Amino acid sequence: MVERLSWKKLAWELAFFYLPWFIIGWLFGGLPWLLLGATVAMLLWHLHQQIKLSDWLWKDKSLMPPSGTGSWEPLFNGIYRLQKRNRRRRKELANLIRRFRNGAESLPDAVVVFERDGAIVWCNKLAQELLGLRMPDDNGQHISNLIRAPEFVSYIADANYDVPLEMRSHLNSARTLEFRTMPYAEGEYLMVVRDITQLKQLEGMRRNFFANVSHELRTPMTVLRGYLEMTEDPEMVVGPMWPKAHGVMTEQLSRMESLVEQLLTLSKIEAAAKPELDHLVDVPAMLDVLQKEAQALSGDSEHVLTFEVDTSLKVKGNDDQLRSAISNLVYNAVKHTPPKAGITVRWYRSSKGPRLEVQDSGEGIAPQHLDRLTERFYRVDKARSRETGGSGLGLAIVKHALSHHDAELDIQSELGVGSTFSFTLSERLAC
Ligand code: ADP
Repeated sequence: MVERLSWKKLAWELAFFYLPWFIIGWLFGGLPWLLLGATVAMLLWHLHQQIKLSDWLWKDKSLMPPSGTGSWEPLFNGIYRLQKRNRRRRKELANLIRRFRNGAESLPDAVVVFERDGAIVWCNKLAQELLGLRMPDDNGQHISNLIRAPEFVSYIADANYDVPLEMRSHLNSARTLEFRTMPYAEGEYLMVVRDITQLKQLEGMRRNFFANVSHELRTPMTVLRGYLEMTEDPEMVVGPMWPKAHGVMTEQLSRMESLVEQLLTLSKIEAAAKPELDHLVDVPAMLDVLQKEAQALSGDSEHVLTFEVDTSLKVKGNDDQLRSAISNLVYNAVKHTPPKAGITVRWYRSSKGPRLEVQDSGEGIAPQHLDRLTERFYRVDKARSRETGGSGLGLAIVKHALSHHDAELDIQSELGVGSTFSFTLSERLAC
């Protein structure tokens, strides 16, 4: 360990250097010249040490200092120590930055760090995908030059980051993004960007759902209230209008009952965790009962119902949910097929697994509706659906029940020819 420089050390060094010259000069004469020569030699030696130091600092790549002697040794070693400390700190800082960046990369959101004047300092990979930024090319670029949407430009210009900004993505208008910005380091801001498209869609769906339910319930309630108000007149209850009023009220009540029942079924299926699919479901027996119910529903329409059922084909699944799905498909076929026309239900072992098909020869569905049929309350013809007592929830129930069985509803339809609603369960559910 080298001691640091002190006045005492310097004084001793000078004394040791000059003492021999002093003695020689004193003994043999010529002292002033000897002292001058010694001082010049010392000056040259100091200059040489300075050059060595400068070469080490500016040219030499190695961390080790040149070997300094005398009073220069503590200086060389001191600088070496300082450099070592700085290198360690730099390494620690680099580690810290690496850890921060790794953390920011694993966030599910896009992150951008920018300076107060808007110059981008850094962004993670998700920001590059979501906002179209490029690193390191866009380093130092003004963020508003790269995200040019007017709302965003004024958001950055106002620098009022108390409220998050929600806007359509400048790269894909089908996506909605939410920007949250907060002060980060001194003079820097951290912006977190989330894709909230799905959240917005869910919010919209929830709003629509409540609006639809209220609307569906209001119509029959208005009709009921109208008739009830009429019954305030005692004449009405015994008059000729009463049987008709009674019939309409009963019909409206059944509509409300059926809507509430469908809503309960849907919410039960939606809320339920995916069932274990380990119960044996006797689909052939279920179809046997359904055939009788469909015949009763058809009533005077006298549809020609054909059930082609593989009576040995049972499956593993959830009894209630499969019954809901299949009965909705069969009832729909009866509701949308003209009297005396044919409806065929098939339950058989296909090459991919147990398959159910409900084929009708009804009015058919135009192609533009097919993708939306399983949305809640979606109906091709609202007035017609109400006439048949439909709530628009049947196929939503089918979709959910089937998704719990890892299956999807397939709809093939041709206007004026008929429709086939079908699904195939996985082979591993067959028993
Ligand atoms: P709804 O209770 O109105 O029948 P669904 O969700 O079961 O509601 O069906 C949605 C819409 O799909 C119906 O309103 C109807 O327009 C159409 N649809 C369903 N099944 C058939 C079918 N077999 N033939 C023709 N259209 C159908």
